[in-house]
Amino acid sequence: MDTAGADSTATEGLTQINRPNRSARRRAESNDGELLNAEFSVEADGEAFSLIIESAGGKIVGSALPRNSDYVPLLEVLLARLRELDATIVAAEVISSNAAKLPVGERRLVHSPIAMSSISDVRQLRLDLTRTQGRVGLPPSSKKEGNGRKRVLLRITVANYGPEDADQLATDLSRSAVTLATEHLSIGETDGHAQVRIRREQSRLRRILCGSGETGICALCGHEFPTGLLVAAHIKKRRNCTPNERRDLSNVAMLACTFGCDALYEDGWVSVDHTGRILIANKAVATPAVRDRLASLAGIVCDAHKPSSEPYFAWHRATVFRSRP
Ligand SMILES: [Zn+2]
Repeated sequence: MDTAGADSTATEGLTQINRPNRSARRRAESNDGELLNAEFSVEADGEAFSLIIESAGGKIVGSALPRNSDYVPLLEVLLARLRELDATIVAAEVISSNAAKLPVGERRLVHSPIAMSSISDVRQLRLDLTRTQGRVGLPPSSKKEGNGRKRVLLRITVANYGPEDADQLATDLSRSAVTLATEHLSIGETDGHAQVRIRREQSRLRRILCGSGETGICALCGHEFPTGLLVAAHIKKRRNCTPNERRDLSNVAMLACTFGCDALYEDGWVSVDHTGRILIANKAVATPAVRDRLASLAGIVCDAHKPSSEPYFAWHRATVFRSRP
């Protein structure tokens, strides 16, 4: 009844996706940059997107690996990347051919929208989703766990990705932070979408700097924060960077906390000297609250300082820092 093999025939004719699946199936990289053996696709659905994860199980002729054997790791990296992109899961349901015969309520996997930024434990969410889908199609009295690797559809919304960006979203979801860091961005400053591109670049930078962790370290104060309280701060102001400097993602930016460090750096109250130590501005002109904060930062070693980022810090010292050397 509930075999993965039956799932593989499910594509069209379902009430929830009553249109052909036009988008190409993709594979994603694990966080270590290895290609996972599992397929997904993204297609625009009005202002939202349908993220479809193909079912696992069953042999493929000519292949040593069972079909989509990395279903679970794929679902987990996709959820983690959706969180990095501040996505919302509006709805989720099983869309296997067996499930299509069930009333909508019985194939549903989530009952209210999930703002991914509110999820502290992605693995737990993944477990909830796989366990819930295991029960889909089973009688309530059944003791079986059921198949937790069915074909599922997540309906998602992602800020800064419009209906024409389905391919880009699929690409961004497929890439590990490792790959993003080495990849050149195409930044078209002259087109009308510059703001959107900049915001997207910011979220990519944050992914590069935070990786897939739930917390990160502020490069200035050295304290650990949840990633939502960290931003990718440009060491050299973005608008002053050449296109090549902007693409130098692993050197031109650092993580800074929104607890003050980002703003103090941006506004020139702190900078970093050529040895990597934090410099503080002449305190006489600051208010007591700023003075206290500056005193706590003086002399700390900034872990974003390295030979390859020093030119950007040098620019900041000479241009933005309030006590220019
Ligand atoms: Zn900080």
